Amino acid sequence: MRFIVVSGGVLSGLGKGVTASSIGVLMKSIGYRVSAIKIDPYLNIDAGTMSPFEHGEVFVLDDGGEVDLDLGNYERFLDITLTRDNNLTTGKVYSAVIEAERRGDYLGKTVQVVPHITDEIQNWLERVAAIPVDGNGAEPDICIVELGGTVGDIESAPFVEALRQFQFRVGKENFVLVHVSLVPVIGVVGEQKTKPTQHTVKELRAAGLSPDFLVCRAEEPLLPATKEKLALFCHVEPSHVLSAHDVSNIYRVPQMLNEQGVTEMIAEKLNLEIPESRPLYDDWVAMADRVDSLEKTINIAMVGKYTGLTDSYLSVIKALQHSAFKVGAKMEISWVEAASLEAKFEDKDSEKYAESWAALKAAHGVLVPGGFGIRGIEGKILAAQYARENGVPYLGVCLGLQVAVIEFARNVLGLEGANSTEFDDKTPHPTVIFMPEGSKTHMGATMRLGSRQTNLHTEDCHAFRLYGGAKKIHERHRHRYEVNPDMIADLEAAGLRFVGKDTEAQRMEIIELADHPYYFGTQYHPEFKSRPNRPSPPFLGLVEAAFKRL
Ligand code: GLN
Repeated sequence: MRFIVVSGGVLSGLGKGVTASSIGVLMKSIGYRVSAIKIDPYLNIDAGTMSPFEHGEVFVLDDGGEVDLDLGNYERFLDITLTRDNNLTTGKVYSAVIEAERRGDYLGKTVQVVPHITDEIQNWLERVAAIPVDGNGAEPDICIVELGGTVGDIESAPFVEALRQFQFRVGKENFVLVHVSLVPVIGVVGEQKTKPTQHTVKELRAAGLSPDFLVCRAEEPLLPATKEKLALFCHVEPSHVLSAHDVSNIYRVPQMLNEQGVTEMIAEKLNLEIPESRPLYDDWVAMADRVDSLEKTINIAMVGKYTGLTDSYLSVIKALQHSAFKVGAKMEISWVEAASLEAKFEDKDSEKYAESWAALKAAHGVLVPGGFGIRGIEGKILAAQYARENGVPYLGVCLGLQVAVIEFARNVLGLEGANSTEFDDKTPHPTVIFMPEGSKTHMGATMRLGSRQTNLHTEDCHAFRLYGGAKKIHERHRHRYEVNPDMIADLEAAGLRFVGKDTEAQRMEIIELADHPYYFGTQYHPEFKSRPNRPSPPFLGLVEAAFKRL
């Protein structure tokens, strides 16, 4: 097993995850099996309780793990399926060590950060790197380990120390360290400044880790003089100083790194063979070219809560882009803050109210993504009503399905005050209700989570066509509430079709509407399994229907 560790310095948000995933693509393109582990030095056990507003979306895995969104990058770039253990946090390491201490495993010793925490980290990396991830049951050859945060943070110190020891444990010929840093341009002359990178490398080296490669984020390509200076001050070979400048689209990143020789240089260090032809690499270049050449634009109105921060809906955006790519168009998303569609908002800010409605009406399709909490619910219901009544393509994901059902109950069945008990526990018509297996006292990992099977009950529906004629569908879930089974008969009699249900036919998984071009809702989150060349079927359905309105 070879390990490629990717650390970061200077500041966060440099695109470490994309760099790490891209290096993974390059390794996969020369014929090796690649896995990935993300280290998050925070104390949370997992991302399940973290606000998408602060940390970006909570990504959900097949096994129900609620993890950092970088695991989504790995799954999409490398086309693999990861496990909850592929996201290592301080919370997980400490709880494992504390549990072992309580069992008496340490035989009377004082339990300390070094060696107990650092050993646990190294054991974890070795164990999890070996888990098969590509569906063939074979052990990976290479594991990318991304260290979250920036080197020098108090929180990441035990991980940095563990990695320092780890290079000896696995052998230097099986260990590559890539450090991602920033090269800002300052002043009228526009000089590329190397000092921040010098400092972060100094910090890394003081901790006993010397980078094999520097990947430097910059707007423009690094100048030869900048590379030389960095090489000199950072104890790295000049050819190993790589420029990660802005490129036209994200699929270009592997190509940009490859063209600087990184594939050959890593292969040499790790003793890997490079085959003559690399069809996967060619696919990526072709994909990047194709994205640049798209001319038509599809506009989807995304009616959500966190409209300021696109990371909150990262996988949804990716699934839309993959679908647009498939139909041969660019994806343009109009962010509509749900609350601003509500009538009472007009008094507060009539301009924004008008703008939001105009954006909704101008869009070729409407998407209501998943969410928790009451804010903006009435606005989402209005968006669903608008799409339903005007034949506008609609996709509701999780909460977006629940909202569509509530809207239908209120406005078609005439059930005034119909609601989810999540938002109104005294509603006269509980249309969406709390699921028996949820917990109201513990928020972490207590939802219906991960991959569950949906059965289609008819072939006469969009879902059957979109899922390629499959009647058993496996998608990922993350919810506490569900459509009230007692109301299904009435809803169905009025034209709302529950075409997909769980294996016991108790839980409603997919809704469709007869006599509408595309009105589709899923209780699951299909966005998590979307791939660049295999867009998520419900999203593709939305984008295809939207494309027809161009
Ligand atoms: N809040 C809703 C529930 O818990 C929807 C969750 C979601 O959209 N992920 O069921």
